[in-house]
Amino acid sequence: MASLGIPRNTIEVLQRHNFTIQKKYGQNFLIDTNVLERVISAAQVAKEDFVLEIGPGIGTLTQLLAERAGKVAAVEIDRNLIPILEETLSPYSNVTVINEDILKLDIKRFVLEEGEGRPVKVVANLPYYITTPIVMGLLEGGAPLESITVMVQKEVAERMQAGPGTKDYGALSLAVQYYAQPQVVANVPPNCFLPRPNVGSAVICLRKYGTPPVRAVDEGRMFAMIRAAFNQRRKTLANSLGNAPGLKVSREQVAQTLEEMGLPAMVRGEALTLAQFAALSDALQP
Ligand code: SAM
Repeated sequence: MASLGIPRNTIEVLQRHNFTIQKKYGQNFLIDTNVLERVISAAQVAKEDFVLEIGPGIGTLTQLLAERAGKVAAVEIDRNLIPILEETLSPYSNVTVINEDILKLDIKRFVLEEGEGRPVKVVANLPYYITTPIVMGLLEGGAPLESITVMVQKEVAERMQAGPGTKDYGALSLAVQYYAQPQVVANVPPNCFLPRPNVGSAVICLRKYGTPPVRAVDEGRMFAMIRAAFNQRRKTLANSLGNAPGLKVSREQVAQTLEEMGLPAMVRGEALTLAQFAALSDALQP
Protein backbone atom coordinates (compact mmCIF):
# COMPACT_ATOMS: atom_id res chain seq x y z
CA MET A 1 0.00 0.00 0.00
CA ALA A 2 1.29 3.51 -0.85
CA SER A 3 2.56 5.26 2.28
CA LEU A 4 0.23 7.82 3.78
CA GLY A 5 3.33 9.50 5.19
CA ILE A 6 3.81 11.73 2.17
CA PRO A 7 1.80 14.94 1.76
CA ARG A 8 0.11 13.97 -1.54
CA ASN A 9 -1.39 10.75 -0.18
CA THR A 10 -2.56 12.30 3.08
CA ILE A 11 -4.23 15.17 1.20
CA GLU A 12 -5.88 12.73 -1.22
CA VAL A 13 -7.40 10.67 1.61
CA LEU A 14 -8.58 13.74 3.53
CA GLN A 15 -10.19 15.28 0.43
CA ARG A 16 -11.84 12.09 -0.76
CA HIS A 17 -13.49 11.68 2.64
CA ASN A 18 -14.36 15.35 2.86
CA PHE A 19 -12.62 15.41 6.22
CA THR A 20 -12.37 18.64 8.21
CA ILE A 21 -9.29 18.83 10.44
CA GLN A 22 -10.26 19.38 14.08
CA LYS A 23 -7.89 21.74 15.86
CA LYS A 24 -9.64 21.02 19.15
CA TYR A 25 -8.41 17.41 18.92
CA GLY A 26 -4.80 18.43 18.27
CA GLN A 27 -4.86 16.98 14.76
CA ASN A 28 -1.47 17.40 13.08
CA PHE A 29 -0.92 14.47 10.75
CA LEU A 30 2.59 13.19 10.11
CA ILE A 31 3.70 13.58 6.49
CA ASP A 32 7.36 12.57 6.68
CA THR A 33 8.42 8.97 6.14
CA ASN A 34 11.83 9.49 7.79
CA VAL A 35 10.20 10.72 10.98
CA LEU A 36 7.78 7.78 10.96
CA GLU A 37 10.74 5.40 10.69
CA ARG A 38 12.51 7.18 13.56
CA VAL A 39 9.49 6.73 15.81
CA ILE A 40 9.15 3.02 14.98
CA SER A 41 12.86 2.30 15.36
CA ALA A 42 13.09 4.21 18.68
CA ALA A 43 10.19 2.09 19.94
CA GLN A 44 12.04 -1.08 18.81
CA VAL A 45 8.81 -2.59 17.55
CA ALA A 46 9.18 -6.31 16.79
CA LYS A 47 6.92 -9.10 15.56
CA GLU A 48 6.03 -10.42 19.01
CA ASP A 49 5.02 -6.98 20.32
CA PHE A 50 1.65 -5.68 21.39
CA VAL A 51 1.38 -1.94 20.62
CA LEU A 52 -1.13 0.66 21.80
CA GLU A 53 -1.47 3.73 19.59
CA ILE A 54 -3.27 6.79 20.92
CA GLY A 55 -4.84 8.93 18.20
CA PRO A 56 -4.22 6.99 14.96
CA GLY A 57 -5.60 9.88 12.85
CA ILE A 58 -5.89 8.54 9.28
CA GLY A 59 -3.71 5.52 10.10
CA THR A 60 -0.31 6.68 8.84
CA LEU A 61 1.74 5.39 11.79
CA THR A 62 -0.76 2.58 12.40
CA GLN A 63 -0.01 0.98 9.01
CA LEU A 64 3.71 0.79 9.80
CA LEU A 65 3.00 -0.52 13.30
CA ALA A 66 0.69 -3.21 11.87
CA GLU A 67 3.47 -4.31 9.53
CA ARG A 68 6.12 -4.54 12.27
CA ALA A 69 4.21 -5.61 15.42
CA GLY A 70 2.24 -8.71 16.34
CA LYS A 71 -0.84 -6.80 17.35
CA VAL A 72 -1.93 -3.13 17.39
CA ALA A 73 -4.79 -1.56 19.33
CA ALA A 74 -5.62 2.08 18.52
CA VAL A 75 -7.86 4.55 20.35
CA GLU A 76 -9.27 7.48 18.35
CA ILE A 77 -11.69 10.10 19.72
CA ASP A 78 -12.86 11.59 16.42
CA ARG A 79 -15.64 9.45 15.01
CA ASN A 80 -15.24 11.04 11.59
CA LEU A 81 -11.86 9.34 11.33
CA ILE A 82 -13.28 5.85 11.88
CA PRO A 83 -14.49 5.27 8.28
CA ILE A 84 -11.11 6.52 7.01
CA LEU A 85 -9.28 4.13 9.34
CA GLU A 86 -11.53 1.27 8.18
CA GLU A 87 -10.29 1.96 4.66
CA THR A 88 -6.60 2.65 5.30
CA LEU A 89 -6.23 -0.28 7.72
CA SER A 90 -8.32 -2.77 5.71
CA PRO A 91 -5.24 -4.76 4.57
CA TYR A 92 -4.27 -5.55 8.18
CA SER A 93 -5.93 -8.23 10.28
CA ASN A 94 -3.90 -7.51 13.44
CA VAL A 95 -5.31 -4.03 14.18
CA THR A 96 -8.23 -3.12 16.45
CA VAL A 97 -9.51 0.47 16.43
CA ILE A 98 -11.92 1.80 19.04
CA ASN A 99 -13.69 5.15 18.99
CA GLU A 100 -13.04 6.41 22.53
CA ASP A 101 -11.56 9.27 24.51
CA ILE A 102 -8.27 7.93 25.90
CA LEU A 103 -8.77 9.98 29.08
CA LYS A 104 -12.06 8.20 29.78
CA LEU A 105 -10.93 4.71 28.84
CA ASP A 106 -10.02 2.09 31.45
CA ILE A 107 -6.59 1.63 29.88
CA LYS A 108 -5.49 -1.14 32.21
CA ARG A 109 -8.51 -3.26 31.38
CA PHE A 110 -8.25 -2.52 27.64
CA VAL A 111 -4.54 -3.42 27.54
CA LEU A 112 -5.06 -6.62 29.53
CA GLU A 113 -7.90 -7.68 27.24
CA GLU A 114 -6.33 -6.73 23.92
CA GLY A 115 -2.80 -7.82 24.79
CA GLU A 116 -3.86 -10.99 26.58
CA GLY A 117 -1.56 -10.16 29.48
CA ARG A 118 1.47 -9.13 27.37
CA PRO A 119 3.19 -5.86 28.35
CA VAL A 120 2.36 -3.07 25.95
CA LYS A 121 4.54 -0.67 24.01
CA VAL A 122 2.77 2.65 23.54
CA VAL A 123 3.67 4.38 20.28
CA ALA A 124 1.95 7.60 19.21
CA ASN A 125 2.02 11.06 17.79
CA LEU A 126 0.13 12.48 20.76
CA PRO A 127 -2.52 15.20 20.77
CA TYR A 128 -0.37 17.85 22.50
CA TYR A 129 -3.20 19.46 24.49
CA ILE A 130 -3.44 16.37 26.73
CA THR A 131 0.15 15.06 26.73
CA THR A 132 0.67 15.16 30.50
CA PRO A 133 -2.59 13.45 31.54
CA ILE A 134 -2.05 10.75 28.89
CA VAL A 135 1.57 10.04 29.87
CA MET A 136 0.95 10.16 33.63
CA GLY A 137 -2.21 8.07 33.21
CA LEU A 138 -0.15 5.42 31.43
CA LEU A 139 2.69 5.50 33.97
CA GLU A 140 0.44 5.49 37.04
CA GLY A 141 -2.44 3.44 35.69
CA GLY A 142 -1.08 -0.02 36.51
CA ALA A 143 -1.36 -1.57 33.03
CA PRO A 144 1.54 -3.88 32.11
CA LEU A 145 3.73 -1.34 30.33
CA GLU A 146 7.11 -1.76 28.66
CA SER A 147 7.75 1.62 27.08
CA ILE A 148 6.15 4.79 25.76
CA THR A 149 7.55 6.28 22.56
CA VAL A 150 5.72 9.44 21.65
CA MET A 151 5.84 12.65 19.68
CA VAL A 152 5.25 15.56 22.01
CA GLN A 153 5.85 19.30 22.08
CA LYS A 154 9.62 19.87 22.21
CA GLU A 155 9.49 21.82 25.51
CA VAL A 156 7.51 19.05 27.16
CA ALA A 157 10.06 16.43 26.04
CA GLU A 158 12.81 18.62 27.52
CA ARG A 159 10.94 18.94 30.81
CA MET A 160 10.44 15.17 31.03
CA GLN A 161 14.16 14.56 30.56
CA ALA A 162 15.55 17.47 32.64
CA GLY A 163 17.76 16.96 35.69
CA PRO A 164 18.20 19.03 38.89
CA GLY A 165 19.46 22.58 38.62
CA THR A 166 18.19 23.18 35.08
CA LYS A 167 15.39 25.55 34.10
CA ASP A 168 13.27 22.74 32.65
CA TYR A 169 13.43 20.60 35.80
CA GLY A 170 10.16 20.37 37.67
CA ALA A 171 7.31 18.22 38.95
CA LEU A 172 6.84 16.59 35.52
CA SER A 173 10.54 15.60 35.30
CA LEU A 174 10.38 13.96 38.72
CA ALA A 175 7.03 12.24 38.12
CA VAL A 176 8.21 10.78 34.80
CA GLN A 177 11.64 9.81 36.12
CA TYR A 178 10.14 7.97 39.08
CA TYR A 179 8.53 5.51 36.66
CA ALA A 180 10.72 5.52 33.58
CA GLN A 181 14.03 6.38 32.00
CA PRO A 182 13.46 9.16 29.47
CA GLN A 183 15.46 9.72 26.29
CA VAL A 184 14.75 12.31 23.62
CA VAL A 185 15.50 10.55 20.34
CA ALA A 186 14.67 13.16 17.69
CA ASN A 187 13.69 16.77 17.22
CA VAL A 188 11.00 17.24 14.59
CA PRO A 189 10.25 20.56 12.85
CA PRO A 190 6.69 21.79 12.10
CA ASN A 191 6.95 21.09 8.35
CA CYS A 192 6.76 17.33 9.02
CA PHE A 193 3.04 17.70 9.87
CA LEU A 194 -0.16 18.67 8.12
CA PRO A 195 -1.27 21.20 9.23
CA ARG A 196 1.93 22.59 10.73
CA PRO A 197 1.81 23.00 14.51
CA ASN A 198 2.89 26.35 16.00
CA VAL A 199 5.49 24.63 18.16
CA GLY A 200 8.52 22.41 17.65
CA SER A 201 8.16 18.69 18.37
CA ALA A 202 10.33 15.89 19.70
CA VAL A 203 10.15 12.13 19.95
CA ILE A 204 10.77 10.88 23.47
CA CYS A 205 11.16 7.29 24.60
CA LEU A 206 10.24 6.43 28.21
CA ARG A 207 11.42 2.97 29.27
CA LYS A 208 9.44 1.83 32.29
CA TYR A 209 11.42 0.65 35.31
CA GLY A 210 10.59 -2.71 36.87
CA THR A 211 10.80 -1.01 40.26
CA PRO A 212 11.16 2.74 40.84
CA PRO A 213 14.77 3.91 41.27
CA VAL A 214 13.99 5.36 44.72
CA ARG A 215 11.71 4.29 47.53
CA ALA A 216 9.54 6.60 49.62
CA VAL A 217 7.53 5.31 52.56
CA ASP A 218 4.56 7.36 51.32
CA GLU A 219 4.75 7.89 47.55
CA GLY A 220 1.65 10.13 47.57
CA ARG A 221 3.19 12.43 50.18
CA MET A 222 6.47 12.62 48.27
CA PHE A 223 4.61 13.76 45.14
CA ALA A 224 2.54 16.24 47.16
CA MET A 225 5.84 17.72 48.39
CA ILE A 226 7.27 17.80 44.89
CA ARG A 227 4.19 19.64 43.60
CA ALA A 228 4.35 22.12 46.49
CA ALA A 229 8.09 22.65 45.90
CA PHE A 230 7.58 23.66 42.27
CA ASN A 231 4.31 25.51 42.75
CA GLN A 232 6.29 28.54 43.77
CA ARG A 233 9.59 27.89 42.07
CA ARG A 234 11.35 31.02 43.26
CA LYS A 235 10.68 30.33 46.95
CA THR A 236 12.97 28.33 49.17
CA LEU A 237 11.87 24.76 49.76
CA ALA A 238 11.35 25.49 53.46
CA ASN A 239 8.95 28.31 52.61
CA SER A 240 7.09 26.37 49.88
CA LEU A 241 6.54 23.27 52.02
CA GLY A 242 5.92 25.25 55.20
CA ASN A 243 3.14 27.18 53.42
CA ALA A 244 1.50 24.15 51.77
CA PRO A 245 -1.75 23.47 53.65
CA GLY A 246 -1.98 19.69 53.15
CA LEU A 247 1.56 18.81 54.24
CA LYS A 248 1.35 19.83 57.91
CA VAL A 249 5.03 20.65 58.30
CA SER A 250 6.52 23.89 59.53
CA ARG A 251 9.11 26.00 57.78
CA GLU A 252 11.51 25.32 60.67
CA GLN A 253 11.05 21.53 60.50
CA VAL A 254 11.85 21.56 56.78
CA ALA A 255 14.92 23.79 57.23
CA GLN A 256 16.26 21.58 60.02
CA THR A 257 15.72 18.36 58.04
CA LEU A 258 17.44 19.85 55.01
CA GLU A 259 20.47 20.72 57.15
CA GLU A 260 20.50 17.20 58.57
CA MET A 261 20.57 15.94 54.97
CA GLY A 262 23.61 18.12 54.28
CA LEU A 263 21.65 20.63 52.20
CA PRO A 264 21.47 24.41 52.79
CA ALA A 265 18.39 25.48 54.76
CA MET A 266 17.67 28.04 52.00
CA VAL A 267 17.85 25.54 49.12
CA ARG A 268 15.20 25.64 46.38
CA GLY A 269 13.28 22.58 45.21
CA GLU A 270 14.91 22.73 41.79
CA ALA A 271 18.25 21.66 43.34
CA LEU A 272 17.00 18.37 44.82
CA THR A 273 17.24 14.97 43.14
CA LEU A 274 14.43 12.44 43.19
CA ALA A 275 16.33 10.47 45.86
CA GLN A 276 16.59 13.61 48.00
CA PHE A 277 12.84 14.28 47.68
CA ALA A 278 12.20 10.69 48.79
CA ALA A 279 14.53 11.09 51.78
CA LEU A 280 12.97 14.45 52.71
CA SER A 281 9.46 13.06 52.52
CA ASP A 282 10.47 10.06 54.69
CA ALA A 283 12.13 12.33 57.27
CA LEU A 284 9.07 14.61 57.41
CA GLN A 285 6.41 11.95 58.02
CA PRO A 286 3.59 13.37 60.15
N1 SAM B 1 -1.28 9.40 14.48
C1 SAM B 1 -1.69 10.38 13.49
C2 SAM B 1 -0.49 10.89 12.74
O1 SAM B 1 0.62 10.76 13.29
O2 SAM B 1 -0.64 11.40 11.64
C3 SAM B 1 -2.48 11.55 14.12
C4 SAM B 1 -1.77 12.29 15.25
S1 SAM B 1 -2.59 13.77 15.77
C5 SAM B 1 -1.23 14.67 16.43
C6 SAM B 1 -3.43 13.33 17.29
C7 SAM B 1 -4.59 12.34 17.14
O3 SAM B 1 -5.16 12.11 18.43
C8 SAM B 1 -5.74 12.83 16.26
O4 SAM B 1 -6.12 11.80 15.40
C9 SAM B 1 -6.85 13.16 17.25
O5 SAM B 1 -8.15 13.07 16.71
C10 SAM B 1 -6.58 12.13 18.35
N2 SAM B 1 -7.10 12.50 19.68
C11 SAM B 1 -7.21 13.74 20.21
N3 SAM B 1 -7.71 13.68 21.46
C12 SAM B 1 -7.90 12.36 21.74
C13 SAM B 1 -8.42 11.67 22.86
N4 SAM B 1 -8.81 12.32 23.97
N5 SAM B 1 -8.50 10.31 22.80
C14 SAM B 1 -8.11 9.65 21.68
N6 SAM B 1 -7.62 10.26 20.57
C15 SAM B 1 -7.51 11.60 20.60
